[in-house]
Amino acid sequence: MTRQFTYSGSPAHIVFGNGASLEVGAWVERLGRGRALVLSTSHQAGDGDALAKKLGALAAGTFAGAAMHTPVEVTEVALAKAHEVNADCVVALGGGSTTGLGKAIAYRTDLPQIVIPTTYAGSEVTPILGQTENGLKTTVRDAKILPEVVIYDPELTVGLPIAMSVTSGLNAIAHAAEALYAQDRNPVSTLMAVEGLRALSQALPVLIEEPRNLAARGDALYGAWLCGTVLGTVGMALHHKICHTLGGSFDMPHAETHAVMLPHTIGFNAVAVPELLKPVADIFGGSPGGRLHDFAKSVGAPLTLRELGLEQGDLDRAAEIATKNPYWNPRPFDRAAIRALLQDAWEGRRPQD
Ligand code: NAD
Repeated sequence: MTRQFTYSGSPAHIVFGNGASLEVGAWVERLGRGRALVLSTSHQAGDGDALAKKLGALAAGTFAGAAMHTPVEVTEVALAKAHEVNADCVVALGGGSTTGLGKAIAYRTDLPQIVIPTTYAGSEVTPILGQTENGLKTTVRDAKILPEVVIYDPELTVGLPIAMSVTSGLNAIAHAAEALYAQDRNPVSTLMAVEGLRALSQALPVLIEEPRNLAARGDALYGAWLCGTVLGTVGMALHHKICHTLGGSFDMPHAETHAVMLPHTIGFNAVAVPELLKPVADIFGGSPGGRLHDFAKSVGAPLTLRELGLEQGDLDRAAEIATKNPYWNPRPFDRAAIRALLQDAWEGRRPQD
């Protein structure tokens, strides 16, 4: 086999370790900054305030309004706050929604970002911003969007509710699974994807029994970093496109939607590229679609789009939107195939082996 590939490493600083978030002030100073705007969701406002307190004089203010799918109107309010307090960097504490807000600010201002992720979404290591305006989610990719510093502190994830830990972990697994067959994959992305799949496949079953197991929390976050990194470096296909449609046009919850769709999209593509998906088969122990379904079930993940609130009557429109703009996928598909796949996911049918 002849090898041919392009590889570009990410320029971000990654810091990983229990208690690593205590060093956030030192990182603000290392970036040559001194007025951080601390971002969070309203749910994590208390954590954001505590972080601002820890930053002391290095914190210029807090904004606790981050929301799922990065609505542009929220970004505008946060930008006004950044101007008002004369912020010279942002510190985002939270999951993909808070990271998304920090990226949206950086995209418009080029302010440097420090991200402290508390879920397994992986957004913190990608130069990609998805934002929503007038019911449509669009994606931009720009070097300004990639956070400069990411501090992974497993201790901050110990309180992540178990249901969210599971769905967020499956969201990360989806990045790695699609990276295995990406057209622009390279040896490093494949190594990272396989290691990320291994780490999460081992951590999630431990976490559902022992949510406060710090070693398993560390493994899951390590897996999230690896899976997020491949999401940022190679192209995604069918799975991410469908989830993007369901999130942007039907306001479906991000991680849960990824969790439900994963067995169906990967099962669909496994027919075309079984060799490339062999790591999924090896790690989960059988046919990719069926075994991912069994794994999701074993860790208590939601299995149907129905339980996430999608109406069956929306499936036609979802299939239409998801196939409107053509994109590359390892297995060709048409609208009817996607409609059938969505029906299976709506009902939670186990993909055939
Ligand atoms: P989220 O950030 O919306 O978090 C869900 C909820 O959990 C929020 O209320 C949050 O405050 C709370 N939470 C987070 N961590 C917690 C913790 N440790 N303890 C207690 N509560 C906690 O969910 P998410 O799945 O991480 O992110 C979803 C968003 O990220 C979507 O908008 C998605 O599009 C985006 N995303 C973007 C990329 C990218 O590369 N651009 C990648 C993945 C996800």
